[in-house]
Amino acid sequence: MFEALSGKLNGVFDRLRRRGALTEADVAEASREVRLALLEADVALPVVKDIVAKVRERAVGAEVIKSVSPAQQVIKIVNDCLVEALGGGEGVEHVPGISLAAAAPVAILMIGLQGSGKTTTSGKIALRLRTRDKKKVLLASLDVHRPAAQLQLETLARQAGVTSLPIVAGQSPLQIAARAMEVARGELYDVVILDTAGRLSIDEALMDEVAAVKAATRPHESLLVVDAMTGQDAVQTARAFNERVGVTGIVMTRVDGDARGGAALSMRAVTGAPIKLLGAGEKLEALEDFHPDRIAGRILG
Ligand code: GDP
Repeated sequence: MFEALSGKLNGVFDRLRRRGALTEADVAEASREVRLALLEADVALPVVKDIVAKVRERAVGAEVIKSVSPAQQVIKIVNDCLVEALGGGEGVEHVPGISLAAAAPVAILMIGLQGSGKTTTSGKIALRLRTRDKKKVLLASLDVHRPAAQLQLETLARQAGVTSLPIVAGQSPLQIAARAMEVARGELYDVVILDTAGRLSIDEALMDEVAAVKAATRPHESLLVVDAMTGQDAVQTARAFNERVGVTGIVMTRVDGDARGGAALSMRAVTGAPIKLLGAGEKLEALEDFHPDRIAGRILG
């Protein structure tokens, strides 16, 4: 997803590398170009300003280190600033992936707009927890608005090799959630993944429903699924959900597409919530942990 940004930043660095010693004017020019590259990648303006200000401040104040070239030093500074924007860096605790550090059954609430990839991601997480973490997983769809949704999750559960909660017609999302928790306790499941209903856009009814399910089930993780291809809209969606419902982490999907990457770089600063997982394809195996340092490394090549 970061190809264009990566190409642009590396162009800037190549020019820096060709200079023996960097002047303040070189640093000023480089930070202008970094600013342009970030804006073109659709990073939110306040985040761009913050990153560029940090790069300049650190580059100007940096002591000359004999063992590395001035260009390498600037690259390192940009790298550190990207890591920090992505939610990592020194002194910041970033737990990649999902936390299961709670008494079983651990509830994971899946939240997001329709089409964001929420149901697919529920299946991906279920598969990973079963195969990698050897957990007994129950999947439950609370989507009573779209009749096909519960069937879709049932199919995904079968593909992931986990159980889905039997469908009972006429139940409300809260009733389904209560039944899922009861079954999970009674049948000693380790994890229950509750897939809530999505809407095409954020509305009060959606927020109320998700908030009510969250209050009733007290999930250990409330994961918001957003589509990276929607750029700044994904960031605003995350901000709204975090303010209204509270999310413990964000899953960004479709990073296998040609998203410009700005959403990933803006997410932490704008929403306050960490990105925990990336969806990188339609297959159930296409789920990655989000590591700020590795992503920064991918951007800078
Ligand atoms: P929901 O409405 O939020 O539950 O969305 P779905 O899980 O039904 O996903 C909508 C479409 O996006 C489906 O066709 C999925 O296969 C596809 N999808 C989900 N995640 C990804 C991803 O990470 N990459 C790609 N390329 N497609 C995805």
